[in-house]
Amino acid sequence: MKTASVTILIIACVLNSAQAATEIKVRVTSVRAGDMITTLTSTNVDQEIKLAGVAAPKVLLKQPYGRRAIKALSNKLLGETITVIHSRSDMMGQIIGKVMLDGRWINQEMVAEGHVWHDPTTATAPELVEAQQAARTGRKGLWGDKAKPVAPWKWTGGKGQATDEKWKEKAGKNTDAVYVAERSNKYHRKKCRRLREGVKEVSRRRAEKWSYKPCSICKP
Ligand SMILES: [Zn+2]
Repeated sequence: MKTASVTILIIACVLNSAQAATEIKVRVTSVRAGDMITTLTSTNVDQEIKLAGVAAPKVLLKQPYGRRAIKALSNKLLGETITVIHSRSDMMGQIIGKVMLDGRWINQEMVAEGHVWHDPTTATAPELVEAQQAARTGRKGLWGDKAKPVAPWKWTGGKGQATDEKWKEKAGKNTDAVYVAERSNKYHRKKCRRLREGVKEVSRRRAEKWSYKPCSICKP
């Protein structure tokens, strides 16, 4: 047992040193998304950088606030020389890192201003969690929308996808189901006695969109 844990400890140390943080200075040449920039290194090589710990709305899939996130990040970074602290790059040679500009932590700023989501899969920090909480409470940027914003990793595009509810429905986890029946313009709870033939389960949103009214007996 002891040998095993020592071995594990050694492996852990080796992995750790392999992932030691590196710092590079690069100049930002373009902003491709609210979480992705292209930069030029000191040796004039293009280097793509993804902001660690954040996920921006997907512009290519027409997600709301995608363009605004690009604009916000461009205003902060375009043409600037930044410091990127990173411990890993992905298979495409893209660096995933912490972007610093004159002591400002840009990843966190983007979350705090409600331009992007905190994405714990690429990096996490209590500051990012808190920044998102505050942005949400303060209804900043994408959190100010009437519709509940959908996280980019859940966004698949298309007209139908506007809210988290919609996503849940797609994933088969819709808890807001109501029931409609033939020859009636009312929607009901599942066990309502008014429900007879041709009963169909739909989401409340859809029922309302189809102009069904809530049943006055079961009060769904
Ligand atoms: Zn009813």
